Amino acid sequence: MNHRYIAHFDSTKLPRIDTDFLVIGSGSAGLRAAIEANQHGDVVLVTKSVVKESNTRYAQGGIAVAMSEDDAIDFHVEDTLKAGVGFCDEVAVQTMVEEGIQRVSELIEWGANFDKDGNELSFTMEAAHQRRRIVHSGDATGWETANVLSNQLIKQERVRVIEHAFAVDLMTQDDACYGAVVLIDNNLHCIFAKAVILATGGLGRIYQCTSNPDVATGDGFAAAWRAGCKMMDMEFVQFHPTTLFLVDAPHFLISEAVRGEGGILINIRGERFMARYDEKEELAPRDVVSRAILNEMQLTGFPCVYLDITHRSPDFIRNRFPTIYQTCKHHGIDITTDLIPVRSGAHFMMGGVRTNLNAETNIRGLYACGEVACTGVHGANRLASNSLLECIVFGMRAGKAATEYAKKVKVDDYAKIKIHSEAPPQGVLSNEPFDVQSVREMIREVMWDNIGILRGGNELKTASDILSEIVERRLWNRVEEFELQNILDIAKLIAEAATLRTESRGAHYRTDFPERDDTHWQKHIVLCRNEQPEIVE
Ligand SMILES: Cc1cc2nc3c(=O)[nH]c(=O)nc-3n(C[C@H](O)[C@H](O)[C@H](O)COP(=O)(O)OP(=O)(O)OC[C@H]3O[C@@H](n4cnc5c(N)ncnc54)[C@H](O)[C@@H]3O)c2cc1C
Repeated sequence: MNHRYIAHFDSTKLPRIDTDFLVIGSGSAGLRAAIEANQHGDVVLVTKSVVKESNTRYAQGGIAVAMSEDDAIDFHVEDTLKAGVGFCDEVAVQTMVEEGIQRVSELIEWGANFDKDGNELSFTMEAAHQRRRIVHSGDATGWETANVLSNQLIKQERVRVIEHAFAVDLMTQDDACYGAVVLIDNNLHCIFAKAVILATGGLGRIYQCTSNPDVATGDGFAAAWRAGCKMMDMEFVQFHPTTLFLVDAPHFLISEAVRGEGGILINIRGERFMARYDEKEELAPRDVVSRAILNEMQLTGFPCVYLDITHRSPDFIRNRFPTIYQTCKHHGIDITTDLIPVRSGAHFMMGGVRTNLNAETNIRGLYACGEVACTGVHGANRLASNSLLECIVFGMRAGKAATEYAKKVKVDDYAKIKIHSEAPPQGVLSNEPFDVQSVREMIREVMWDNIGILRGGNELKTASDILSEIVERRLWNRVEEFELQNILDIAKLIAEAATLRTESRGAHYRTDFPERDDTHWQKHIVLCRNEQPEIVE
């Protein structure tokens, strides 16, 4: 296998940690995988910030699960397939929806405090669901889920959690993965493991406007790609319609559940506009609402639209959306009386490291789960609140499959492995001053302007040209520098896939090819380093 590491290392010279399972990432997928793997061996879990900092922690709306009396597995499957615009892997969807019931029940057994109506679970509504099926914990479901899973994990023995540990590259040899190179306390370490579970979450931070926290720089996508993983559906990035739009405030997410509970969208002229775009109005799929908002902003020449929930009672709003209420209040907006200024932001990655139902990648011993993986469950557009469900279902499956694989690995097989990076090539800029922060901001702007909610051939060409002019140094040794290389690697992958797909489908909207084209494009684009793109059924 042809390696391309960004860290310069020699495993015989760096501090070495040995374990049975290395889990990278402490979101819902990584935590659930670690709990499972830990039944069968030692686990080292590394995470680049603190354990509870992840996309998971910020999830507001809830977890979609077919558990209410008037719901059924078939309905949930049907809604997921419909939102995915004919592009989901049906078996993966069926697996997620069926096993999701067990996984959510398990969270409840482990102490998850989901909201109830009397003694029964309370289910809320979100866009493109035909039933109220979202279990939630106020508007802080992710926080609750992360707490329950991390408490469950630390109860177990033989788990070592290393915070502020940045996984730089996967160590691979002969199409097998043996661990990762990890920056801990500013020093590179080699963590060797019989099986590695990649659960590094999303990549929203490669866009200028995003709902994602700082950690979501897509490191896992880039490391997997450099290691030779097959990357599928990279053109499908979901933009959430409603993030808070205020100067000097973060793009805080205003959950879909606000529209689910009756919130309406109006433009600066005070017109309710969604009926002009979709019969489901505010509850149309996310891509439709995001494009409608963008169009209204262009038509009115105003940089945002407004979300209005003031017709619900103040008590209901404060109780149902305490986090949103408090956060907006902090920024001077009382959502019980004021309109909320919103616009779209990059939110979720449907594509990623191609895996099968057992989270296996094309590299032996490497498993991927959660947002970094592409199981095919989301197709061209994720159904609201299906992501946490995917994380706990396929996180558990990854842990299980990794344990089966590890049983077959002889200790000697990996104890003797020595891996080192190629001597880093001297890039043109290698000795010149390089402002990491400004290059990073420039890439984020290029992505937003050219490969965002709308993309056209000209914009894609502009973006690809700019990205290819950024000379790679590959002599990085700080987190910011590693992140920059990751952002650049993924930006190029998204640009390549978005250029190849000459149709519009779900979250991928080409202004020059506005129609869906099933004849030519009912197919997935798979990118792998040093190989021609594959177009697969
Ligand atoms: C604001 C917001 C609201 C959302 N609301 C919902 C919702 O209501 N329902 C729903 O289903 N989904 C929701 N989502 C999506 C969902 O939260 C995520 O898709 C899901 O939590 C992803 O989980 P994960 O475990 O794959 O990744 P994450 O939860 O993002 O965890 C990734 C982990 O990997 C770590 N990591 C990353 N790179 C490295 C590295 N190089 N080295 C070491 N560690 C690394 C991170 O620090 C983090 O701990 C929301 C997302 C956001 C941002």
